[in-house]
Amino acid sequence: MQISESNLMKHLQFLCSRAGSRPIGTEGNEMAASYIEQVFHSAGLEVESQIFECPRWQIDEVFVEINNQRISGIRANTSSMSCDVVTFVSPLSTIGELEEADLTGKIALLYGGLTKEPLTAKGFKIYNPDRDQHIIRLLEEKQPAAILLVYSKLSTLQPLIADWDFHIPSATVSPILGRALLSNIENEVRVRINSTKQIGSTRNIIARKRGTRTTDRIILCAHYDTAFGTPGAFDNASGVAVLLSLAEEFGRRQLEVGLEFVAFSSEEYIGYGDQIFIAHNKLTEDQTIAALNIDGVGQLLGNNTVTVMGGSESLREAVAELADDYRSTIWTNPWYESNHYTFFSHGVPSIPFSCNGITDLIHTEEDTIGWISPERMNDALSLVVRLLIYFNINLHNGAESSTSENRISPYRHG
Ligand SMILES: [Zn+2]
Repeated sequence: MQISESNLMKHLQFLCSRAGSRPIGTEGNEMAASYIEQVFHSAGLEVESQIFECPRWQIDEVFVEINNQRISGIRANTSSMSCDVVTFVSPLSTIGELEEADLTGKIALLYGGLTKEPLTAKGFKIYNPDRDQHIIRLLEEKQPAAILLVYSKLSTLQPLIADWDFHIPSATVSPILGRALLSNIENEVRVRINSTKQIGSTRNIIARKRGTRTTDRIILCAHYDTAFGTPGAFDNASGVAVLLSLAEEFGRRQLEVGLEFVAFSSEEYIGYGDQIFIAHNKLTEDQTIAALNIDGVGQLLGNNTVTVMGGSESLREAVAELADDYRSTIWTNPWYESNHYTFFSHGVPSIPFSCNGITDLIHTEEDTIGWISPERMNDALSLVVRLLIYFNINLHNGAESSTSENRISPYRHG
């Protein structure tokens, strides 16, 4: 294994195994933040922490009892309130049924058209379909004692609601449990959710390397937070490992163009981290050449992907040409999510690095290091490095770096 590959794996290992799951407001999140900060410091960079308040939620117990028997296949929705209710279930599969239902004191059992997709959190500004807002509004009007949402797949349960500002206790249940509940609407059932909700804190960590020729900078970013209950190897310890290796690569070099490394938090929860970053860094007035976001790279059974959102045609061509040298890397369509979307929507040319492969690994406990290939991660790292060289040399009035010492070597170790 090359040194850069083992270095990537070292970072990946720390994030997934030592820090573990890293949702905002948790110890794992703080542990990852301290680690990232320390790596940035050791790399010789100026480091700033952008601390902000966030939900701190913990789940201690969740179960359903039908005829005094606990049935498996339930998962509390992220940020759910606590409850302990014994009452009747009211099954609902369409917005029409929901509109007509009287849910006072009942357990709403949502399935079919109502649970085809997760319900977007109320505070999520980027993408919030009318359908989701309508369903949430109806549920808030009708105030059931609890809500159970039937997951529409037989695979690992994913919470169908993750909303700090939604105050009705809720959980996601497997199709098998959903079926059992549906055939027991004559009987009272018990739903117990025992959770704690507090205010916590998290932070974006920003590390800067000033350029010698210009105050313009290139932003390199990756989010280090995860969803609940996942070690988040692919999403997104892989991206953070690449970001940290880049910081180590460039931290002590003389660069003509500045670099800013941003380890974002709260990407998984309504993009708080981005909102805080934008509030403190006025991008439109700043000279931001481009933002490179690394979110989920290096899957063993996948291809790294890259695309360009915004910017010039020549930038697009240059990135495509560089990517062409990596046989397993493919060009993909723009995707309007993650941290690069924030930069793109503020007019900064944005380049997301990601990966196809086993897509439903994401946000599950299965998202472990075993799915990550050190070689593939190193390919992503190497492509970013080559792209930085392209920017450094070509983007400013065509000025070439004056001496070969100023030039960045594309590969770290030969
Ligand atoms: Zn991600």
